[in-house]
Amino acid sequence: MPSCDACAAPAVVHQRYSGRRYCGRHLDRSVRKKVGKELRKQLHLDGQPITILVAISGGKDSAVLLSMLHDLLGQRPDVTLIGGCVDEGIEGYRPPSMEAAQRLCEQLGVRFEHSAFRDLDFLDMDEVVNRMKHVTEDGAPTTACAYCGVFRRQGINALAERVGADVVALGHNLDDVAQTVMMNLVAGEVERSLRMAPHTHQIEEGLAPRIIPLRPIPEQEVHLVALHRGLPIHHETCPNAEGAQRWKMRETVANLEEERPGSRHGLVRTLDAIRSLAGSRESVDHVSACEGCGGPSSGPTCKACEMRGHLGLR
Ligand code: SF4
Ligand SMILES: [Zn+2]
Ligand SMILES: [Zn+2]
Repeated sequence: MPSCDACAAPAVVHQRYSGRRYCGRHLDRSVRKKVGKELRKQLHLDGQPITILVAISGGKDSAVLLSMLHDLLGQRPDVTLIGGCVDEGIEGYRPPSMEAAQRLCEQLGVRFEHSAFRDLDFLDMDEVVNRMKHVTEDGAPTTACAYCGVFRRQGINALAERVGADVVALGHNLDDVAQTVMMNLVAGEVERSLRMAPHTHQIEEGLAPRIIPLRPIPEQEVHLVALHRGLPIHHETCPNAEGAQRWKMRETVANLEEERPGSRHGLVRTLDAIRSLAGSRESVDHVSACEGCGGPSSGPTCKACEMRGHLGLR
C-alpha cells in the first residue's frame, strides 16, 4: 500500500476524485476540516443560545456526525448538542443499533433522547411490513422505506419539539445526497430538489431547519473515520433496505463515480446551481392543521395520516 501524502504511514484511502492518499489520522483531520467549513456555510451562529438535535441511528454516518460536531462545537457555551434516536420497531436491527447510539452519547457526554413509532400512534415497522402484503389501494407505497421515511420524519420532528431544538442535524453523506439528487432529477422533481437539506432558513412553519454537515464526505471516508475513531457503531443493514429505490440508485451513482471520479461532487454542484438559479426562496411554506392528527400539513391531511390510512389505521 502506498503511503499517506502527509506522512510516512500507509494510506487507508486513495481519493480518486482529488488524487490524494491519506492515512487514518490525516484522513480524519481532512474530513474534520471539510465538515467545519461546511458547518460554517450551513449554520449561522451569532452567540444566541442554540440547541441542535443530532439525529443518530447507531450507524456510522450519524456517529461520525455527532463525534465531529462534538469536536467542533462541544466547547461552545452557546451550543447545546442532543443525540436523538427514533425506534422504528425493526426486530434484530433496531435494538442493537439503539444501544450503539446510546453508548456513543455516553462516551461523548452528550444528552441522549429517543422516541418510538409505537409511541407516536404509528405501527412498528415489522407490523407495517406484515400489513403491506394486504394493501391493495392504488397509490399506496410498495416499499417499507416509503412508510418508514414519513414516520421517521415525524419521529424526529416530535423529538425536536420535545427538546426545543432550533436545528436538526442529519448524517447524510456525499453518496446519500448524490443519490437523492439523481432520484429527483430522473423523476423531474425540481420542487423537491429545492426543498432538500441543508436549509438555511425555515422552510415550513413550526419545523426546525435541517443541516447536513457531512454532505461533502464520501460514504467510504465516513466509514474509515468511524473506524479510526473507534466509535461504537452497529454494522448491520436494515432488513427492509434492499427493496428501496435508493438501493438501486446506490449502484448507479457508484458506477458513475467509478467511470468518472468526481461525479458525486458534480451532482451536488448541479443541485446548488439549480437552487441558486431558482433564487434563495425566503418564503416559509404555510401549513394548516391536518384533519386527521392536527399536525402541520400542506394539504387537508398530512403524509403520515395518509400512510396510516393505507395501513388501515384510520
Ligand atoms: S432501510 Fe427503510 S425500513 Fe429500514 S430503517 Fe431505513 S427507511 Fe426504515
Ligand atoms: Zn498521514
Ligand atoms: Zn395527520
